[in-house]
Amino acid sequence: MLAELLFPEITETPDDILKKYPKRDKNLVVTRVAPSPTWFLHIWAIYSSLLDKIFAHKNNWVFFLRIEDTDQKREVEWAKEKYIDILRKFWLDFGEWPIWPNYEDVWNYWPYTQSQREYIYKVFIKDLVKRWLAYPCFMSEEEIESIRSIQEASKIPTWVYGEFSKWRDASFEDVKWEIESWKKFSIRFKSEWNIINKVEVNDLIKWKVITWEYYLDVIIMKETWIPTYHFAHVVDDYLMWTTIVIRWDEWFASLPLHMQLFKAMWWEAPLYAHYAPLWKLDWTSKRKISKRHDPEADVEYYFKEWYLIEWILDYLANLINASFEDWRKENLDKSLYEFDFSFSKMNSSLILVDIAKLNSVNSWIIKNMNLEVLYDKLTKYLSEFEKEFYENIFLKADKNYNLKIIKELQTRLVIFKEFKALTTFFYNDFEVNENMKNLLVNQKMKIENIDIAKKWLQLA
Ligand code: GLU
Repeated sequence: MLAELLFPEITETPDDILKKYPKRDKNLVVTRVAPSPTWFLHIWAIYSSLLDKIFAHKNNWVFFLRIEDTDQKREVEWAKEKYIDILRKFWLDFGEWPIWPNYEDVWNYWPYTQSQREYIYKVFIKDLVKRWLAYPCFMSEEEIESIRSIQEASKIPTWVYGEFSKWRDASFEDVKWEIESWKKFSIRFKSEWNIINKVEVNDLIKWKVITWEYYLDVIIMKETWIPTYHFAHVVDDYLMWTTIVIRWDEWFASLPLHMQLFKAMWWEAPLYAHYAPLWKLDWTSKRKISKRHDPEADVEYYFKEWYLIEWILDYLANLINASFEDWRKENLDKSLYEFDFSFSKMNSSLILVDIAKLNSVNSWIIKNMNLEVLYDKLTKYLSEFEKEFYENIFLKADKNYNLKIIKELQTRLVIFKEFKALTTFFYNDFEVNENMKNLLVNQKMKIENIDIAKKWLQLA
């Protein structure tokens, strides 16, 4: 009755939806990257996608992209298209992804954008309400705050749960009254768990972890009727048949909640791998990379500095398994996907993003690159980023001359950006004029006048 009152427009059942998304082949390993289009693309998204591809790639695999735009307040309009473009540049070619602007029905598990999946979420939320596992909550922010101060004063866990949740066991009449008076509400999950108990969760990177049960009645659908991450994650990864959820550490604390949600839905949960947060060295101390303060958090920073894609990928592969570096030295021409990566060799506490290390990876690759390949890559860089130098100087010189210069620099160049500054003197005609007389004429060396100096210089 309550479910009908809340969702009269939803007529399909969970089974109807499940029929539309048949199970994938059981031998497939299915991974996904799920960025939220809230700003620039963070370097973790590349790191995460690389992990997705690496671990799926060993098997029969599907790697797909899902856009998680449930936080519409923070959404940036251009971000979605840009994310796809950037991920493609890294050859992180997913097999399924959202197509705009029409959200065409291209792959079986569409739509791949959460804002297009509202109907699906509502079907499952309606079912939870029907089974008394979720309930509408009309509490205002102020009410929640005042409960919180009472809890704090009594030194007990804070927030909405158990007896502190006013609407958890409210009567149908009371709920109906609120709805008919157009009161706004969110939907909360009715947690069956208790703060005093512990539960074991499994993770491919952290292994077995004993942690507290998740006792809060979290919001699974906001007042705007948009689901929260927790609920959307469970529904989407189930209906898209993800087999390994690889995501950042920030979500690890919610894992008991996600296990509970899977259980409430009678679904088998996927495997999880939570990778450690990305940190950086700030002078002598370490801290988390900040979206706001660290330019290297933005993937486009690496493009602007013209780090080549293969350098960045190799660098990130080093961060995944440190032994990759030695393997790469022996296997210069192989694809990184041939390395035997393993979850168990990943650092589970922190990953240090270090530009100096990235530079050393670059210079090593440059040093060992075939000269013609290096020439082509550098030419591409110059034509794009140093257009004037490229057209007026580089192209006007003989190719062999350019190759000689590049060969000369191959052991010293760290990033392409340095090329112009390091080489202009090779390209500038050296002008000798009367003003340089004092500097160049040297009777002892038998350089008696400026013409002789010029002759020697040309010879040199
Ligand atoms: N949209 C989530 C985030 O940006 C992704 C987490 C996940 O991979 O499940 O944090």
